[in-house]
Amino acid sequence: MITFNKAPFIGAEFGYIQQAVDALKICGDGSFTKKCNAWLEERFGARSALLTTSGTSALEMAAALSGVQAGDEVILPSYTFSSTATAFVGRGARLKFIDIRPDTMNMDEKLIEAAITPKTKAIVPVHYAGVSCEMNTILEIAREHDLVVVEDAAQGVMSTYHGQALGTIGDFGCYSFHETKNYSMGEGGAILVRDEGPVETAEIYREKGTDRSRFFRGQVDKYTWVDWGSSFLPSDMLAAYLWAQLERADEINENRLETWRFYREAFEPLAEAGRIDLQVIPEGCVHNAHMFYVKCRDLADRTQFINHMREHGVQCVFHYVPLHSAPAGLKFGEFVGEDRYTTSESERLVRLPMYYGMDPADRQTVVDAALDYFQRG
Ligand SMILES: *Cc1c(COP(=O)(O)O)cnc(C)c1O
Repeated sequence: MITFNKAPFIGAEFGYIQQAVDALKICGDGSFTKKCNAWLEERFGARSALLTTSGTSALEMAAALSGVQAGDEVILPSYTFSSTATAFVGRGARLKFIDIRPDTMNMDEKLIEAAITPKTKAIVPVHYAGVSCEMNTILEIAREHDLVVVEDAAQGVMSTYHGQALGTIGDFGCYSFHETKNYSMGEGGAILVRDEGPVETAEIYREKGTDRSRFFRGQVDKYTWVDWGSSFLPSDMLAAYLWAQLERADEINENRLETWRFYREAFEPLAEAGRIDLQVIPEGCVHNAHMFYVKCRDLADRTQFINHMREHGVQCVFHYVPLHSAPAGLKFGEFVGEDRYTTSESERLVRLPMYYGMDPADRQTVVDAALDYFQRG
């Protein structure tokens, strides 16, 4: 079976984990964590980048740093992973789901203003498939209404928007290093902080509410409990695993893009013939080949396609049952405006196998099986 994902593995991971163990530094903020943080800051131009235990915990930190409180409202797409929503639910926020654009599956920036009320505190763009939301418009609206922007860039590591790295554009950016993402430490993530102001608070939240980071820098002579916080820092063994991949980030990115382009070329004629729809990459967006998806005609077509692919030894998956219709979505929020695309487009979308180091023969198998299905009509 050609699986839809294989966790990235470069080969240097075990050697670095051994080094972390030998240094007797397996808790958080050891040398590998510091290397990863510094790499993220330099490479992407973030004021501060801090590894976290997951993309979800990065979002939880961002929600806390946004100052969102009970009764505040947060605007986000319904077409996303539960973590985007639950991080804000944890602060007592009410969720205002808006519709997506069918071309990118990202929040439709033109619908944000209609969802703003005096209680609105934050906008949470999700860069689906590593393709950027329309950030210029979103930042403008945020400035005008004094709102915080939290980018869910879980899928967007190494993607850019008009030259700026995703995750560094809004007030806070959240990355995921889950095994299904482009760079992985099994479970992990990072929070990126754009401005100097909240950097110290981010460090405090991440260190169980203590000023331990200041203590380690020699800025205070003992550390103490100063604020809310939790344990958001991963073991240095996991950071060592990630470091092996960050060191080779360009190679991993290029390899994924090569598979993406191979698929794209193979499916372009079907899209031109109107049999399927393909992802749109808007001008100014450079993506990271996080995902390759096609859109079938409808739910029935997609179900048949997935079954066909399985019979040919290829695992294709779909995801995101829209949050607003999920049990927790009904409890914690509501859809604002018309659900024109969220439900219908999500029912058509299917992801093809896509991972670092994919065997060219396997890619060909995927394409052959898919063409066999779609060319039948
Ligand atoms: C993967 C993902 C997350 C969660 O990241 P974890 O590291 O699994 O906690 C959040 N949002 C989006 C859009 C994701 O794809």
